[in-house]
Amino acid sequence: MNPIHVIGGGLAGSEAAWQVARQGIPVVIHEMRPVRKTDAHQGEGLAELVCSNSFRSDDSEQNAVGLLHHELRRSGSLIMSCADANQVPAGSALAVDRNGFSDAVTKALEDHPLITVTREEISGLPPEDWDSVIVATGPLTSPALSEAVLERCGEDALAFFDAIAPIVHFESVDLSKAWFQSRYDKVGPGGTGKDYLNCPMDKEQYDAFIDALIEGDTTDFKEWEENTPYFDGCLPIEVMAARGRETLRHGPMKPMGLTNAHNPDVKAYAVVQLRQDNALGTLYNMVGFQTKLKYGAQGDIFKMIPGLENAQFARLGGLHRNTFLNSPKVLDGSLRLKAEPRLRFAGQITGCEGYVESASVGCMTGLFAAKERLGQSFESPPETTAMGALLGHITGGHIARETEQGSPRSFQPMNVNFGLFPPIEAPKTDADGKRLKGKDKTRAKKGAMTQRAKQDFEGWILAFEPPQAAE
Ligand code: FAD
Repeated sequence: MNPIHVIGGGLAGSEAAWQVARQGIPVVIHEMRPVRKTDAHQGEGLAELVCSNSFRSDDSEQNAVGLLHHELRRSGSLIMSCADANQVPAGSALAVDRNGFSDAVTKALEDHPLITVTREEISGLPPEDWDSVIVATGPLTSPALSEAVLERCGEDALAFFDAIAPIVHFESVDLSKAWFQSRYDKVGPGGTGKDYLNCPMDKEQYDAFIDALIEGDTTDFKEWEENTPYFDGCLPIEVMAARGRETLRHGPMKPMGLTNAHNPDVKAYAVVQLRQDNALGTLYNMVGFQTKLKYGAQGDIFKMIPGLENAQFARLGGLHRNTFLNSPKVLDGSLRLKAEPRLRFAGQITGCEGYVESASVGCMTGLFAAKERLGQSFESPPETTAMGALLGHITGGHIARETEQGSPRSFQPMNVNFGLFPPIEAPKTDADGKRLKGKDKTRAKKGAMTQRAKQDFEGWILAFEPPQAAE
């Protein structure tokens, strides 16, 4: 049988290769380290963790990433079995000894009779006789390959810089302070004139907010990011604030064309706008609020915004180098490049974010490629599961967002979170019939979502049980 080729032996590529081999199909992994290095990896092991050693929460009842852990384990994941075997104490999080973890992944792949690991850079589109290829080259994909993909798919296929505005869970916004209205009540295509959530500030609140932004701790640019300039119109808010106290009030925080529905007679001095971020309406992004502020500072400063005092963030803002595809446009539902279906993509390059998410997309891509090679039909995981929710984000579940320049390119990488899941009717009362409120209500809802996910995942993954002999 012809092998499936996997380019990149990171979190996603390692998991993808493992899943393909589990189905009894030969795999060749092409990893460019140590022949060619990246700016973040230090060694030559497969599945190297470039920064933190944490896989985040292992709680599969109340946490979306914990649920991904569960689904990966249920899929026979190599990344999870090596993480479990190399765990270090970290409370309810799953943290690992990074060298032990990478060594274990490398050994398992190198020892597998169906897997060959070659150390070479693939510096253009793969040879035409490779009829099934998984590209898992990550956020630091080598330029020769990313340029070839760009050439194949067109100008807006790839982004090289991640400018992320924070994203808030809608249910945590205080609607007694915020109100729905589009600027000048403008009705755009598919709009209602009430498409934005607006948070008003008076002068005193604005001044305090600007002071906090200017004084807030920012993350340092990595040496290799310093040469990547800010895009025009995509400046971090703290940089805008430092350029002049009124700059934000004339930019993303301008109050024009908006009337406070809760207090129509008082004109807001400045307004923070939030825009719907997913089709379900469970997530809203803070328009124009890309930032290099440290996560702790973001949490403190953004809670100064009236209406966001109790905001829960699905993701915080950021600005860093990151190569990722405009996946909703260029990939199909099973992660194949529409322009060249022999190429499938996996990992962070598809527009997920994080070690566990990258491994999960690797897992799905490996399973899909294997089924295709075996000539068997297959289905994507249901959108009620964590993998399905992530796949929905990548391949188009998200509504298009606009950049600061108003261009339609807007897909941004994201961690898994409950805002990506379809809503659920959660229990309204506890076992004693007492009405659930506040944190108890949220717990009940998350519990119902994870229960539904586990049940639906179980129904889906059975179709991918490996043949006995290949295990
Ligand atoms: P990678 O793990 O980067 O694997 C890609 C592999 O492809 C690499 O081994 C690379 O050498 C190889 N490669 C690239 N180009 C080629 C080529 N042309 N030919 C052959 N091989 C090639 N996520 C977290 O959850 N926690 C964190 O703390 C965290 N910190 C991060 C810090 C930095 C600096 C960066 C860039 C990302 C970070 N991430 C973090 C995000 C992300 O989860 C990781 O980058 C993750 O490793 C992505 O997995 P991947 O498999 O897609 O890519």
